[in-house]
Amino acid sequence: MYSSRKKTVEELPEELTAIWSCSDDNCNGWMRDNFALSSTHQCPLCQSEMVKGERMLVALANTSPLHHKAED
Ligand SMILES: [Zn+2]
Repeated sequence: MYSSRKKTVEELPEELTAIWSCSDDNCNGWMRDNFALSSTHQCPLCQSEMVKGERMLVALANTSPLHHKAED
């Protein structure tokens, strides 16, 4: 009677993350500041200008192959 779905996603910590979101209200485009290309902040979906904002997002693990343990 155990649901195996329970296992799929553990509760991931969220953190306030800098993002860029599309200035077009009709567009859902946004990206993490980390992922934004250096100088241009253009919506990948509609090529509109993007505006800086913040969102609560699941903290991304460092993409580095070296696994850094969080130090308390
Ligand atoms: Zn857009």
